Amino acid sequence: MTAPAPDNASNQFSERAAELRQLLTRAAHAYYVLDAPELEDAVYDQLYRELLDLETAHPELVSADSPTQRVGGTPSEGFASVAHRIPLFSLDNAFSAEELRSWYARLLKVLDREPQASEPLPALAMVGELKIDGNALALSYENGVLIRGTTRGDGEQGEEITTNVRTIASIPLRLQLDPPPWVEVRGEALIPDRTFAAINADRAARDEPLFANPRNACAGTLRQLDPKVVAARRLDFFAYTLHLPDNWEGPRPISQWECLSWLSSAGFRVNPNAALLPDLAAVETFFNSWDSQRHDLDYATDGVVVKLNDLRLQDSAGFTQKAPRWAIALKYPAEEAPSRLLRITCQVGRTGVITPVAEFEPVALAGTSVSRATLHNADRLAELDLHSGDTIVVRKAGEIIPEVLRVLSELRPEGALPLDLPHQCPSCASELVRESGEAATRCVNSSCPAILRGALRHWVSKGALDVEGMGGKLIEQLVERGLIRSISDLYGLDAALLSSLERMGEKSAENLISAMEASRSQPWARQLYGLGIHHVGEVNAKGLAAAFPDIDTLARTAVDHPEAISELHGIGPEITQSLQQWFNTPANQRLIKQLQDVGLSLASSEQERQELASRSSTDGVLSGQTVVLTGTLPSMSRTQAKELIEAAGGKVSGSVSKKTSFVLAGEEAGSKLEKANKLGISVIDEAGLVALLQSSQS
Ligand code: NAD
Repeated sequence: MTAPAPDNASNQFSERAAELRQLLTRAAHAYYVLDAPELEDAVYDQLYRELLDLETAHPELVSADSPTQRVGGTPSEGFASVAHRIPLFSLDNAFSAEELRSWYARLLKVLDREPQASEPLPALAMVGELKIDGNALALSYENGVLIRGTTRGDGEQGEEITTNVRTIASIPLRLQLDPPPWVEVRGEALIPDRTFAAINADRAARDEPLFANPRNACAGTLRQLDPKVVAARRLDFFAYTLHLPDNWEGPRPISQWECLSWLSSAGFRVNPNAALLPDLAAVETFFNSWDSQRHDLDYATDGVVVKLNDLRLQDSAGFTQKAPRWAIALKYPAEEAPSRLLRITCQVGRTGVITPVAEFEPVALAGTSVSRATLHNADRLAELDLHSGDTIVVRKAGEIIPEVLRVLSELRPEGALPLDLPHQCPSCASELVRESGEAATRCVNSSCPAILRGALRHWVSKGALDVEGMGGKLIEQLVERGLIRSISDLYGLDAALLSSLERMGEKSAENLISAMEASRSQPWARQLYGLGIHHVGEVNAKGLAAAFPDIDTLARTAVDHPEAISELHGIGPEITQSLQQWFNTPANQRLIKQLQDVGLSLASSEQERQELASRSSTDGVLSGQTVVLTGTLPSMSRTQAKELIEAAGGKVSGSVSKKTSFVLAGEEAGSKLEKANKLGISVIDEAGLVALLQSSQS
């Protein structure tokens, strides 16, 4: 996040720095000492970076108690505090290839190896290691015997946890080689994901608070006063740093790569994924290749650590106050980040539903720049309690649409005003309406241009009338110029008028007219879906079109005998009510009439009727199959899914057994999914179900 604009008074900088210091200090305490983080790591990292940038630009703001001036946390009480023989440093972070390159340029500079203008960048060999998201431990050996294990603490002093460390099977109690008088080994203690799941399941059963992640579980375990509990939790350890006495005359590694093999021969577990990398390009390849692969590992990683291989060069590069200059942690793109809220705007959907949207300073999330995120609805907006200038936490994971997770109210500027949904539609300025008991706020003006644009886009979309060439930009022009006021107007367009529009030649205008004409003969189910009735998606439209031969019959039944619709398989009360409302609305009645007037049948053709008749005599696609539902589905409720499965002849059961045909799993699927995987039963998602049902209808 950028610092406040320079024309703001300098006390704004110092206020922001003080707020950040306070928030980060509290977060660091929660993270390092209490093992119960209050902030997401990526959010902490970015706010930390903001404070660091502020302090670099205004050195007078640096205070001794700033989190930027300290390594790690303070050693907690309960264990003896001991001074490390050699301090444990932190690592500087790089969040992009650019930052990696500037680290490398700085490194070349301290090593006096900067290239002349025309020379290529000198290649320095490096070791790439996974950055394991665990807890650093310092292990002291004397005459080959483990005498002490300590946490990192503040880097200078750690907690002595030897009895706990001795329970970790991958830490040798005696070194398996001819030992120097003393040896210091550093590495990462961790809890594998599967053990973490078991620990949390056990805590849930005992009603104890759950650990936020394996790292916290590991930190909490290392600080257990009862070593039996530690032993039961089966921690693991990867060694990565070796210190030997300066005067040791025996064989000694001269590179990080040799240190790793020394550690391995001494009996430590060394992460097998480390690689010797000849130059910066190899570092980038290593980093990129682990971006997806790391998810297959049984432990958490949050980046890779790159270390200069040659130990003599490491010595010459030395350390900054907190971190070695010869190493850098490259972090994978964050999925969560803080940003400053600029304003709240609204989107008007094709059914008039208003979605509040937060607009904020651009942030990089999951590899893309994001500056807008959904706030879902008025209830969520109220729950978040947003104020102007708030620092918000935004999340975007992969393909999922960005959303605002929460507000860091500690960073709220003084005098900030609360922000609310506007009362008027941003497109047509009519008063917005929220029915009691409904989460959605709506624009109910049926001629609202935003609703019309949405309705038109839906009508011509692939699953509906599938009109090639009728894109969003064209629709916008048609609505803006008042050439179209209803879906039916699409069928009155002529080529001459179209070719007068921007970026529309005569040929494409003609093609578009032909595509519109061809769309008239699309099946009745597609026409029904194209009307965009709430809850009537492609599958439901097919079901309804199969049961009702034309729109007039469907409308009459929906209004006068809704129970006849509810009785249909797969059509629940939500859909029935939505149909009833839609057909009762005068604007929609007018739309049906207009569409019929321009020659759309809104009815099944003779051929469709014959096909249906022959299909209804055969069994449903899921007949004889038993399906188990688990998790939250992206767009349908569990009841809707159940109704669809039953309509296709399937049976829904509550538990997975060998008789289960398949499991339909959504997000946060739990033990049923695990059991299905164990029994080798196939698992499909909502899209898979829809495809399966459609395969029987097409
Ligand atoms: P760091 O985590 O960025 O890097 C240093 C640590 O990396 C080492 O101490 C070691 O434990 C670990 N590491 C893993 N694999 C390694 C390897 N192969 N070689 C060397 N080291 C390896 O730095 P830090 O000072 O421990 O902590 C800062 C980080 O902690 C922040 O970036 C943040 O993500 C997290 N943090 C989070 C919060 C929060 O509220 N969520 C608060 C404080 C800190």
